[in-house]
Amino acid sequence: MKHVPQRTCVGCHQVLPKRTLIRIVRTPGGVQVDPTGKAAGRGAYLHNKRSCWGHGLKGALAHALKTELTGQDRQHLLEFLASLPEETSEQQELPTKGSRSTEKNEMTE
Ligand SMILES: [Zn+2]
Repeated sequence: MKHVPQRTCVGCHQVLPKRTLIRIVRTPGGVQVDPTGKAAGRGAYLHNKRSCWGHGLKGALAHALKTELTGQDRQHLLEFLASLPEETSEQQELPTKGSRSTEKNEMTE
């Protein structure tokens, strides 16, 4: 069995294979997105999901990197966030107006 490196998304704390997450790295020049995943420096990981980035930018990311985000860092990260696809509501099951429960009631009568 191959060992797959696992990392935690600092936005939602799900543990996932490293390659499915985006690495953010703290460099002397500031906090940056690290598309290669190989840049030197302290790293943290986020999903490519806006909600995770939003949460990360509220403090989780700075905490994970043991730094504070400067205005410029935040700007760069927000630009990246804006490039992510809009989230769909696929995980939310919308109620379907109770048509099924009506049918069920008719069946039992
Ligand atoms: Zn996440």
